[in-house]
Amino acid sequence: MKTAAIGVDIGGTGVKLALVSSSGRVLTRDTFATRDHAGREALLAELSRRIRGLADEGRRRGMRIAGAGVGAPGPIDVERGFVYFFPNIPGWKNAPIRSLLERRTGLPVRVDNDANAMALGESIFGAGRGARNLIALTLGTGIGGGIVMDGRLFHGPAYSAAEIGHIVINENGPKCGCGNRGCIETYVGNGHFVRAVRERLARGEKSILSRWVREGRELTPLLVARAADRGDRLAVDQWRITATRLGTVLAGLVNVLNPERIVLGGGIALNRKHIFPVVTQVLREKAFPIAARSVRVVPAALGTDAGTVGAAALVFASVPRSGKTGRRDS
Ligand SMILES: [Zn+2]
Repeated sequence: MKTAAIGVDIGGTGVKLALVSSSGRVLTRDTFATRDHAGREALLAELSRRIRGLADEGRRRGMRIAGAGVGAPGPIDVERGFVYFFPNIPGWKNAPIRSLLERRTGLPVRVDNDANAMALGESIFGAGRGARNLIALTLGTGIGGGIVMDGRLFHGPAYSAAEIGHIVINENGPKCGCGNRGCIETYVGNGHFVRAVRERLARGEKSILSRWVREGRELTPLLVARAADRGDRLAVDQWRITATRLGTVLAGLVNVLNPERIVLGGGIALNRKHIFPVVTQVLREKAFPIAARSVRVVPAALGTDAGTVGAAALVFASVPRSGKTGRRDS
């Protein structure tokens, strides 16, 4: 009998769900907006209903449903399946989401931080296949990070490990959402990237972007990538600066963790030719040669399904719940 799991990706504005086979294939997708289900009880009821619906569909296809995995933003007590808070979703303070969902769906439920889930998904089904030691980063408004060591997610005793976006690269740098200054996120996140380009345009640097913005196009990392594709000097330079900073942080991580693979996903990483060659070169220059030689930097492979497939991977990987201390001895 084939096995499947339900993957649930809870975001600030929407919830994505999928029925995922044990080989990582998405069989059915479902989605709904969180704003239509205000408050904890309404959201929980809708979530349970949709999970049961996908489970029923799996059973109709003759599959055994191994459980449901939930990836959610913010800090999560993985062992107890406990969410401290969901950013942007009111009413979700200190919720034992695992037991609440297990009771309502009759399925075993696993919960983890969304970036951790994505890292695990990429390591089992995506660009990290075959690598036992991997770092995954999602580059968006913020930077989500996940670390897989010896084939298992590394959480730490407070489940707060892998906050790679909050590695400080300049103690006097811009204020970060976490309260610190100069975190890598404040240099590589979408907001900073666009702000940096805007400031250079305002200083009068020549760029095709000035004309495009005057014509009413929105200044986004994607637009800057299109300008860089045409060889626009400012755009090419800003990508190089961004990729160099990212590469510098990754070189440090390579020296600390000696991963086999680094998986980069999210909007900024979509601009492959402006990110990957520079990052790879910086790693070669700045990481210990022996560690740099054993790592490959690759684009994420799961695309828009990364969240749900990663959440389903939580079920398939069946990380023991006794991982409280983050120890990897068994
Ligand atoms: Zn920070």
